[in-house]
Amino acid sequence: MNKKVGFSDFAKGFYFVPLGGSEQFGVNFNLYCCDGKWVIMDCGIGFADERFPNVDILLPDPEFIEPYKNDIAGMVITHAHEDHVGAVPYLWPRLKCPIYATKFTAAVLRSKFHDFPNCKDAQIIEIDCDEVLDLHPFKIHFVHVAHSIPQAVSCVIETSYGRVVHSGDWNLDPTPVLGQPSDEARFRAFGDQGILAYIGDSTNAPIPGRAGSETQVLEGLETVLDGHEGRVLVTIFASNVSRIQSICRAAEKVGRSVCLLGRSLHRMTSNARACGYLDDIQEFVSEAQLPSLPADKTLIIATGSQGEARAALARIARGDWKGLKLGRSDVAVFSSKAIPGNEKDINNVKNNLSASGVRVIDPSNAGCRVHISGHPYRDEIRDMYEWLRPQLVVPVHGEHLMLEAQAELAHECGVEQTIIPHNGSVIRLGPGVPELIDHVETGVLAVEPQRIIKSNHAAISDRRKLQYSGAAHITVVLKGDGCLRYDPQMTLIGLIDPHSVEEAELLEDLQQEIEDTLLDLRDDGIDDDVRIEEDIRVACRRFLNNIFGFKPKVSIHLLRV
Ligand SMILES: [Zn+2]
Ligand SMILES: [Zn+2]
Repeated sequence: MNKKVGFSDFAKGFYFVPLGGSEQFGVNFNLYCCDGKWVIMDCGIGFADERFPNVDILLPDPEFIEPYKNDIAGMVITHAHEDHVGAVPYLWPRLKCPIYATKFTAAVLRSKFHDFPNCKDAQIIEIDCDEVLDLHPFKIHFVHVAHSIPQAVSCVIETSYGRVVHSGDWNLDPTPVLGQPSDEARFRAFGDQGILAYIGDSTNAPIPGRAGSETQVLEGLETVLDGHEGRVLVTIFASNVSRIQSICRAAEKVGRSVCLLGRSLHRMTSNARACGYLDDIQEFVSEAQLPSLPADKTLIIATGSQGEARAALARIARGDWKGLKLGRSDVAVFSSKAIPGNEKDINNVKNNLSASGVRVIDPSNAGCRVHISGHPYRDEIRDMYEWLRPQLVVPVHGEHLMLEAQAELAHECGVEQTIIPHNGSVIRLGPGVPELIDHVETGVLAVEPQRIIKSNHAAISDRRKLQYSGAAHITVVLKGDGCLRYDPQMTLIGLIDPHSVEEAELLEDLQQEIEDTLLDLRDDGIDDDVRIEEDIRVACRRFLNNIFGFKPKVSIHLLRV
């Protein structure tokens, strides 16, 4: 931990450097370095919470890897979930390396690139599970895994220092509704060849048992629909193509037509169809047909399962979606789980639905399976260890509790060594015994409508402060002798009701405070404007703190006329 790593140190050896996704949910961005050449595994977004006012999504910060840009052999995307692929259109122009992905992931990425003209030269190379990608000095093999999206892969990264399995997201669904179960035989075969390290999904590592099967969800949805006479709305992650298939099959069984609401659902289903999925389900009905369909013949799939305020579900719940009002006798099914941090927003949506009389069903109250996770529970991870028998386990993809739980499980399963990384950890995988040797600077970037800034940018912290503590802007105009030429102009934001006479009196007291401060300064013979400005600022801040019990942001503009 104490040795500093510089460029020359990366020139020899095999390193793993997670820049995002370790100790946080989303923003996956993992680097592997072998003898000075780099491979990036995944490049995903995260959801911004209330700490980032007016920011919806977060990106990994690629600053560390940019100086090595010419040594990046490629970027491999394990699957098309936003937390793995969503940041590519934003960051590719800074890295400009070839991108490798399976056919479906490539299709999703290409459709994203339509909105990003800076990515028009991006080269996306489709890979297949039976080929070996030679990115010298890396050789990468792809192993099919079951997940809630088509064509997810684990990567087996071979180098002269050893073989690492980078798992991506996976589970051991024995009967997926779309695609095959995870390829146990190939994992076992790689295990027989010897695995230096398993670097993998920790999302459900604290939960005993197994995730279950999408087939159970299909049955669960049939149970929910059975005998119900009102409208049914099901909300999911748009990328959960398996779930779309389950919902459509359940709907078909009870004679309901399916309508998609939300742009990302349309985009995802057309990508899926272009790759040969969802071809055996009924045609979707259009939104325009919705009002004329009988309630008991309708099933709506809507985006917004994470409570996103602008998504279809939140708008429907607010009564803000033209052509569709849900009410008594209708039911809304959350066929999804909350991503940590989104619970409050989801609850708001649920409360809005409930206030309109809609029955809200989620995995906790359904009485049947309406959701299964795409990530492995403890028994599934245990199976993976048994197949691979890795010397080292590095838990990634999760918050600290999840990483810790996987490390503990690895010990329990007799794995020799575990290293829990932070974002920015430098782990030397070889030569010699793997070791955490350093930490490099990393962070996240915040996406605003017109620009991308670092998450520690002063604009974000100021906005956060304004949101919590309000602000006071005060203009003080002095004469040459240091006396006030005019009454100070004061604007208080987020502090008082300007229409309240009583509260407006506070402005008079604040003015008095400014005058007293000026008097003290004049008595001390001070005519330094910077000092005067600062003393007024401190006095006003103290005054407002005494009134409100918190310190608003105070800015003083001093003029001499
Ligand atoms: Zn995923
Ligand atoms: Zn993921």
